[in-house]
Amino acid sequence: MKKDVVIIGGGIVGLNCAYFLQKSGREVTVIDENDITDSTSFGNAGLLSSYDKTPLSYPGVVTNTLKLMLKGQSPAIFHPTISPKIYKWLLNFILNANEKRTKKTMMLFEKFGELSLQFYEQMIKEHNLDFDYHRNGMLSVFTEDKSYNQKLKTYNYVDEDRFKILDFDELQEYVPTITQKAKGAILFKKNAHFDSRKVMNELKKHLEQEGVEFILNERVEQLDIRNDKVKYVITSNGNQYRPNHTVMSTGYQTLLANQCKKDLMMTPAKGYSITFEMPSELVPKTSTLFNDLFIVMTPRKDSVRLTSKLEIGSDDSKVVQKQIDSIKNNFFAYNKSFDMKNETTWAGFRPLTPNDIPLIGRDENIKNLTYAMGLGWLGMTFAPAVGSIISDLVSNDKKNAQSDGVLLFSGFYQ
Ligand SMILES: Cc1cc2nc3c(=O)[nH]c(=O)nc-3n(C[C@H](O)[C@H](O)[C@H](O)COP(=O)(O)OP(=O)(O)OC[C@H]3O[C@@H](n4cnc5c(N)ncnc54)[C@H](O)[C@@H]3O)c2cc1C
Repeated sequence: MKKDVVIIGGGIVGLNCAYFLQKSGREVTVIDENDITDSTSFGNAGLLSSYDKTPLSYPGVVTNTLKLMLKGQSPAIFHPTISPKIYKWLLNFILNANEKRTKKTMMLFEKFGELSLQFYEQMIKEHNLDFDYHRNGMLSVFTEDKSYNQKLKTYNYVDEDRFKILDFDELQEYVPTITQKAKGAILFKKNAHFDSRKVMNELKKHLEQEGVEFILNERVEQLDIRNDKVKYVITSNGNQYRPNHTVMSTGYQTLLANQCKKDLMMTPAKGYSITFEMPSELVPKTSTLFNDLFIVMTPRKDSVRLTSKLEIGSDDSKVVQKQIDSIKNNFFAYNKSFDMKNETTWAGFRPLTPNDIPLIGRDENIKNLTYAMGLGWLGMTFAPAVGSIISDLVSNDKKNAQSDGVLLFSGFYQ
């Protein structure tokens, strides 16, 4: 079966690639091994963290993590494995945790993050989509004196458009459940949040209306490469699709990339979410990051979601109750107790690169194959920017070196 552009993987990245490619006039087919109802793009916190976001690999990350481990509050868990790839990844992560790299990454976050926010706002307006989108800031709450004082050094000047340092009463207005144990809070005004499930459902519905084809519950097993081109995309149902171009956006899964001899420097990092209802007077006014605990609390129309944990070295997708209990213990150490009504739990994997920079761009050897991978813990934030870069690359038949988006924001070039 002949196809124009085949996108493998319908997470937030695949859907955004489909959105921009379809807009540019291409005929798009999205193939997913599932039914696009429960990937990582559904279970996350929904923060759009474009501004003032410190990368995961920041200077001091190792000592701070060890300190939290001793307190029993560390969000990071490492399962020792025999795979040398993980140790290479960890070494790269540590090497990237320096001041110079952090500054550069934050600049890139701001550039491509603002672009994404504008794209999301445009989509909502142009197609009347309901993302439950709010650009009312992200609140960062600190539970450790040291990290709060370090942040204050950076942000203790007046820039009212950008952030506000809150006193305890102001913090309590934003987060009614907070206790006096919190050390301080900063509101980063330019960030936004949305309901990821709504975004995925609305975007998919819109794409279907625009004629994007979805082939669901078919796993792509193999890419048949001939004469430096993907000739057939072969699926678990025995179907063979013959694409003009293929975009790989398979999230944390790298088997297909490995088949193409592409060694992507990324690892699955497991995270959890707990979604529940709570008394309306206790719901936070905006998305709240408990900075040192790596816990996010996001208000949504009918519910609130807590997300946390960063587990490396495991690819078991089960929800482990011990981890859910640990998130709750850490959260309630700084928040007043309340009932989490109609609670649902979820676990999924971030496709994490060691420097928080995605892996996007054309394959050097296979002419009609492009990667849109490695969006890590910020895929919801940057997916539209990545989708537009990929569409520009494919539709205008550009080389990587002709795309400033790829040159600036792809881990292939850093
Ligand atoms: C707990 C948690 C909280 C998070 N919070 C935030 C946040 O607040 N803000 C933010 O910006 N980001 C957040 N993220 C990160 C964000 O969710 C991810 O970066 C993003 O969802 C990745 O999207 P993706 O499209 O690359 O992958 P996915 O959503 O995993 O989609 C990949 C798709 O590919 C399909 N697939 C894979 N292999 C094949 C194959 N061989 N054949 C066919 N289909 C295939 C899968 O079925 C899946 O549907 C969070 C992540 C977690 C785990």
